[in-house]
Amino acid sequence: MARFTIIDTAKHVGEKIKVSGWADTVRAHGKILFIDLRDRSGFLQLVFIPSNKEVYEIAKEIRSEWVIEVQGQIVKRPENMVNPNMETGTVEMVVDSIIVLAKSETLPFSIEESGYEISEEVRMKYRYLDLRRQRLKNNLISRHNIIKFIRNFLDQESFIEIETPNLTKSTPEGARDYIVPSRMQPGNFYALPQSPQQYKQLLMVAGIEKYFQIARCFRDEDPRGDRQPEFTQLDMEMSFVQMQDVMDVTERLLISIVKNLFLEKKIQEVPFPKITYKEAIEKYGTDRPDTRKDKNDKNTLAFCWVVDFPFFEKKDEGGWTFTHNPFSASKPEFFKDILDKKNIGDILTTQYDIVLNGWEIGGGSIRNHTPEALEKVFEIMGYKTADIKEKFGHILTAFSFGAPPHGGIAWGLDRFITLMLNEANIREVIAFPKTGDGRDIMMQAPNLVSKKQLKELSISITKKSISKKVTNKK
Ligand code: ASP
Repeated sequence: MARFTIIDTAKHVGEKIKVSGWADTVRAHGKILFIDLRDRSGFLQLVFIPSNKEVYEIAKEIRSEWVIEVQGQIVKRPENMVNPNMETGTVEMVVDSIIVLAKSETLPFSIEESGYEISEEVRMKYRYLDLRRQRLKNNLISRHNIIKFIRNFLDQESFIEIETPNLTKSTPEGARDYIVPSRMQPGNFYALPQSPQQYKQLLMVAGIEKYFQIARCFRDEDPRGDRQPEFTQLDMEMSFVQMQDVMDVTERLLISIVKNLFLEKKIQEVPFPKITYKEAIEKYGTDRPDTRKDKNDKNTLAFCWVVDFPFFEKKDEGGWTFTHNPFSASKPEFFKDILDKKNIGDILTTQYDIVLNGWEIGGGSIRNHTPEALEKVFEIMGYKTADIKEKFGHILTAFSFGAPPHGGIAWGLDRFITLMLNEANIREVIAFPKTGDGRDIMMQAPNLVSKKQLKELSISITKKSISKKVTNKK
């Protein structure tokens, strides 16, 4: 007999069917036993009557979270037993055969409530149980739906989804890199990408014209509520575009997501208002302004663009560094200053950040697509010619073979989904996030590796104190 999904059972009154899942709650009413069976789609009330002795005896043993398979007839519940809070609340199954597929220990915490009240350490240690709770399961389903919508939308707009490597070379994006030792090139290291920035630009040189990727990015930063050591971007890049073109696609996609998937939400202002960096700082004291008129309404979405950022800022130790992205072009009126390396503090970049309710959910820019201009940016940042060649020779060479003008954007997808789902922390929308201090408590990562592995990699650990932090030595 084929397995039915619980949500569909109400359509099969009178039929004998098979369902399976977890025993959510088990209770007795006099001699009659009730089990609410749960699968991904919902709950179904199972009824066990003593006259079916064999099945009844098995059912009596069943405890919460055991996995069972049952067959029986779907019947209408009596009028006064209908449960309007349950999607299958008009029906129940009178069970006439049962198989126990797996038993379960008592769970370390209840999965009936939202879970906010439980300590993060415990939730993360048993994340697979935490994910059984309705709220988190729904968050994962919504995340899937948003990403599916994005893929379809961009496909319709002729974007191509292309994967770029995770084992790559260190590239400046303002954070510390995670590095991976190479066994075959002893003493050499890959860096995990802080973003696919250079690869997507190289794809423009390759003639792809419209690229996107749901890309994993890695930044060794101190985690906060809206940051994780690894996180997901919707990364995009387009050729033959100007700022407004990239902003338009982004805006249309965001509006479509809201209109199709979040009908209860209202966008405060369309087209999204543009605020200059200077105005944002003067008026709101931040470059991520929360422009909501009514901050109590959880369904208001106040998107805004922040533009006209300074390209460079002074480093504490002297000299200049970029504020956002070294691969950006300046606004056209500053091209000459870049080439002349003049008035550096006044140069504005083409950077555009998209902000939602006070969170930066994305950012991008038009790029420097001529090798001359890009080289000047690195010179302004104090790189010597030999360093530029060593670190960025590949991209400068690529740009010498006819690079189209191009630009793009990346969204912090975890942050965006967090806001759309009215969550306060990105960990609530990531299946297996790291804790605040960057650990995966369930897998116990990071961890020690064997002496043999270290030897193969020509690595020796010098700081003995490091190992003390790790709890499960191998
Ligand atoms: N690579 C940039 C970032 O990760 C986004 C972009 O400029 O497209 O912030």
